[in-house]
Amino acid sequence: MPGFEIFGNEERKQVNDVLETGVLFRYGFDGARRGHWKAKTFETELARHLGVGYAHLCASGTAALSTALAACGIGAGDEVIVPPFTFVATIESVLMAGAVPVFAEIDETLCLSPEGLETALTPATKAVVPVHMCGAMARIDEIKDICDKKGLILLEDACQSVGASYNEKALGSFGKAGCFSFDPVKTITCGEGGAVVTNDRDIYIAADAYADHGHDHIGNDRGAENPLIIGTNYRISELNAAVGLAQLRKLDWIIETQRRNKAAIKDAMSALPGVTFRQLPDPGGDSATFLSFFMPDLETARGAVKALAAAGVDGCFHWFDNNWHYIRKWNHFHAMKASARLAVQALANCPDYSTISMPVSDAIMQRAISMQIKLGWTPEQLDQRIESTVNALKTIV
Ligand SMILES: *Cc1c(COP(=O)(O)O)cnc(C)c1O
Repeated sequence: MPGFEIFGNEERKQVNDVLETGVLFRYGFDGARRGHWKAKTFETELARHLGVGYAHLCASGTAALSTALAACGIGAGDEVIVPPFTFVATIESVLMAGAVPVFAEIDETLCLSPEGLETALTPATKAVVPVHMCGAMARIDEIKDICDKKGLILLEDACQSVGASYNEKALGSFGKAGCFSFDPVKTITCGEGGAVVTNDRDIYIAADAYADHGHDHIGNDRGAENPLIIGTNYRISELNAAVGLAQLRKLDWIIETQRRNKAAIKDAMSALPGVTFRQLPDPGGDSATFLSFFMPDLETARGAVKALAAAGVDGCFHWFDNNWHYIRKWNHFHAMKASARLAVQALANCPDYSTISMPVSDAIMQRAISMQIKLGWTPEQLDQRIESTVNALKTIV
């Protein structure tokens, strides 16, 4: 699946362009850079690829989330609805904004559900951050309808789902802003990097300024006279952008390959009684980075990951027992263990996260397993994997 499988001559060539000029900064130095604008070019191509008006690269996906929250004006005391199944970075960025994460249940899409969202609404709700987990979509049209009706900001965490779509519209392009990650274990990588995308020019200008201390970037250099907003440094370097640019140009091929490999495994597994699959509101838009499926219950799911590992089928995740992606084991978060008191903790509406309970999500996550889909499998390796997977699961169900 991830970009780290396919680092090749194209990436080296892009990085060498930058090394040969010595201009590692994404702004200015017009003459010295000899026409190489890697971050800018990446942004233009990403926006075109996703069919959005604007893209702004950041130092990471987490930085992109923080930048998007800031650009959307989300701050102290605002409640932000989030799912309990995500990479913990989604929650970190809400906390760093001084906003209050409010958890809502997921459904068998493995993403925030419209029903869960409705239940979590309060008069202080300002934004909703659905997370398109494991390469595929939430019921994003229904979530968007609710946000539109209630006047809430929709911000998609599409960090794991670049290249995926719902009804031919790119994930990340439905709300006020969308965020992507290009860290080394995502679909494509910059080494480290992320992006905010939007169709709203004001949000783009705010994001672009926020990520560079409030500078505007009219023309190629940084505006020095008139700081737009209080910001920070979430800039990407030209070296990272160069790697990502080469990777972005491989994205269509990556997704095609993943889809083919995934379909072969899924077909074979469909014959297994007791195994069901993650709901995909638009199967054709799945980026196919993972094959996610359900076992009948917690015990069989735990048995299945063990049996798969023993059979040499690597890259299988039982998220319920995972420390980073499901709220159940975020002990540091339950205890609000931080290096200093967080701004949220000073708020009257800060919940007690140590007693949080997500029964609907628990029941789903107990049974869910995701298998990573790789690009580099030979036909023989794929056949072997299919055989080992089916045989291992047969012993369980
Ligand atoms: C990876 C990830 C992030 C953070 O991205 P980084 O680039 O690693 O900072 C945020 N949200 C989700 C869902 C992710 O998977």
